[in-house]
Amino acid sequence: MKVLVPVKRVVDYNVKVRVKADSTGVDIANVKMSMNPFDEIAVEEAVRLKEKGVATEVIAVSCGVTQCQETLRTAMAIGADRAILVETSEELQPLAVAKLLKALVDKEQPGLVILGKQAIDDDANQTGQMLAALADLPQATFASKVEVADGKAKVTREVDGGLETLSITLPAIITTDLRLNEPRYVTLPNIMKAKKKQLDTLKPEDLGVDVKPRLKTLKVSEPPKRGAGVKVPDVATLVAKLKNEAKVI
Ligand code: AMP
Repeated sequence: MKVLVPVKRVVDYNVKVRVKADSTGVDIANVKMSMNPFDEIAVEEAVRLKEKGVATEVIAVSCGVTQCQETLRTAMAIGADRAILVETSEELQPLAVAKLLKALVDKEQPGLVILGKQAIDDDANQTGQMLAALADLPQATFASKVEVADGKAKVTREVDGGLETLSITLPAIITTDLRLNEPRYVTLPNIMKAKKKQLDTLKPEDLGVDVKPRLKTLKVSEPPKRGAGVKVPDVATLVAKLKNEAKVI
């Protein structure tokens, strides 16, 4: 069984992004870029499935600019066997990515596609669900545990009231939640090995997909600045302030 793992190149989660002066987006010039953290978890899960003998091949896919190759090399250093870059300099929205992935699902026929539940740059949480709809495949989102056996995946999901367990028939789409696993550290020998692994490059046109943006961002703005706090001398003053000024009690 092949496992396809889409990985997105995003601004590193440690970077405090700045909104551009013209409010059209955030400034990503000279900013550290990394693999979306939920996608690292997805790669780790796929590699563990291969190590257990459940999966036979793990294929990492990234859609975007040439530099996404670095993200794909990281995925291969974690343990993916090969990679596909769908190269474009167009801004890619979740629907466009889902269409590209649908074309790759048709081509590669994976038993499982494991995506991150959300990209930390657009916070869309849409691509996996859109792919499931386009490919007409069952989906289990926000997975915190995955067990694959007998052509089915048993997926535990974290829901408000506790845990929900689903059984879905393969081929299927899974999206990862934070607690699914802890991705391994990438070692130097594995980084070196990853350099020799196969990385194919395609264009959206090769897959017959029109990736033009369908949504227009009107404005991006910083959250309002927090005002300074005050120190109160005692509990009585605090209660009085909460009652009379903040009017919350
Ligand atoms: P989103 O719907 O944008 O929050 O993204 C959810 C997931 O879709 C990510 O965690 C990735 O697994 C996948 N994804 C989104 N955009 C891309 C991309 N440009 N290339 C590869 N995978 C992507």
